[in-house]
Amino acid sequence: MFLRSEKAPFDSMHEECGVFGVYSSETRNVAYTVYYGLYALQHRGQESCGIAVSYNDKMDYYKGMGLVSEVFSSGKLEALPEGDIAIGHVRYSTTGASHLLNAQPIVFTGKCGKTAVAHNGNLVNTKSLRDELISDNAVFQTTIDSEVIAYMINKYSDGDILTGIKRACAKFRGSYCLVVMTTNQLVAVRDPYGIRPMVLGKSLDDYIVASETCALDAVGATYIRDLKPGEILVIDSNGLTSYFMDDVPKKSASCIFELVYFARADSVMDGQSVYDARKMAGKILAEKYGVEADIVSGVPDSAVVAARGYSEASGIPYVEALAKNRYVGRTFIQPDQAMRENVLNVKMNALRNNIQGKRLIIIDDSIVRGTTSKKIVRMLREAGAKEVHVRICSPIIKHPCHLGIDMQTYNQLIGAYRNEEQIAKVIGADSIRYLSIEDLVETCKCSNLDFCLGCFNGQYPYPSEETDKYKLE
Ligand code: SF4
Repeated sequence: MFLRSEKAPFDSMHEECGVFGVYSSETRNVAYTVYYGLYALQHRGQESCGIAVSYNDKMDYYKGMGLVSEVFSSGKLEALPEGDIAIGHVRYSTTGASHLLNAQPIVFTGKCGKTAVAHNGNLVNTKSLRDELISDNAVFQTTIDSEVIAYMINKYSDGDILTGIKRACAKFRGSYCLVVMTTNQLVAVRDPYGIRPMVLGKSLDDYIVASETCALDAVGATYIRDLKPGEILVIDSNGLTSYFMDDVPKKSASCIFELVYFARADSVMDGQSVYDARKMAGKILAEKYGVEADIVSGVPDSAVVAARGYSEASGIPYVEALAKNRYVGRTFIQPDQAMRENVLNVKMNALRNNIQGKRLIIIDDSIVRGTTSKKIVRMLREAGAKEVHVRICSPIIKHPCHLGIDMQTYNQLIGAYRNEEQIAKVIGADSIRYLSIEDLVETCKCSNLDFCLGCFNGQYPYPSEETDKYKLE
């Protein structure tokens, strides 16, 4: 069970990144637009962030470790120049160490002049691409696949960024949403399966691209549409021009966990409201997997909407069972197993008066390792709950993800080799029930894309290049 981004230390999966780009018809403080856009995407990555600005055929950038508000304090934002194009990135590391060198955007001078690239996702064939580039004498500054992407685009360019992107994308396998900036073009790219999200919006004469619609709202932009799987959208002085990669599969494979957990509840992805999907999950849990109880509650924040849906459908009153500490900062946001063990009590606390003597249903979005679920159940019991029944808004996670989410081996997963009864026993719950895969897809029925369900059924759009990493040990 987990909280949103802040819960990262104890038991969760993590989104890799968020990307944002703006193309303005005039020179102005575009870095500010990116700053506010990244602020809205902060939940997608808290380790590092950066903004690059294109101005007068030049490019300037700033990157740092930490939250957007931390990195761009002390005049760092003001120091960026005015310009007409800018891109930004927030990062959580799923590949490559948590280090400033690995922060994005990646800015380099290549065949298209100054170029900046920001990436959300994870390539599964990074090793072979990297080997190809090393045999061309490429020297890597970072350990991330995003640098491989940048170099590939440059390698396959003939001086035209679109050519480089098209040819490089033909080589990429995996999930990638990109924003690429030259000194006169902004290009947004969504991988051929549409695994990661990307939307287009407009604010006055500015075009905006972003990982989620909540970032469009944050900068006052109007949503135009989602990028289609395999789309390469070029924004320049000619306006918008859309191109498509060759061989875009007929069936898309958008990551369903974006709707379950990663995305903000106020975002809409490919036609599906995140809020509605979560509410529906709670409703289905009540209707199909209900249990007699006095109160229902949700693990803050991402499961609260589902818990309200459960309450409405069941008639069982919704009561807050857990209070979250909203002031835990970056100190706790490190992907370090050692830190995961003892921070729950700092992150949240049980509301004793609300739950004492009560039979409680606690809703959560998903369970990865189970360590946090166990602690939460214990915390609720110690606070006086008579019974603790856990209901989960997704199916059992049985397989790892190699497409940009930080759950990489079977060993990490409590559900890899356990059924519901066994999981309930491990976490100390009176009962646990999960949505089925069919139920989960039903919660997202307004989406106009098909879904990747790999972590539930083991069927991924791309196999992993590093298969050993995913085997049961
Ligand atoms: S395996 Fe799971 S978490 Fe990974 S992309 Fe597919 S649905 Fe998303």
